[in-house]
Amino acid sequence: MSEKPRPKSQIFDLLRAYHASRENVRLLLEMSGMSDYEKVGFIDAWQEEMADFFAENGYCFACNRTLQRCGCEEPLRSSVPA
Ligand SMILES: [Zn+2]
Repeated sequence: MSEKPRPKSQIFDLLRAYHASRENVRLLLEMSGMSDYEKVGFIDAWQEEMADFFAENGYCFACNRTLQRCGCEEPLRSSVPA
């Protein structure tokens, strides 16, 4: 293996951003007056965005491992457009 340093703290930065974002989403949904159906769609879209955000930074959103070490059988994120 190479001696490329692993950015160990990066996952914590990502998780912090994730938790802040989740809190924002929660507040937004509370005030939105959306139906449950609309909320589910909104959360799905948000999770997709977070998965992209994690992937762009080299981490798996589902297991929080680096993409190289990810062992998810079914990755949360698909690059195939629906
Ligand atoms: Zn994974």
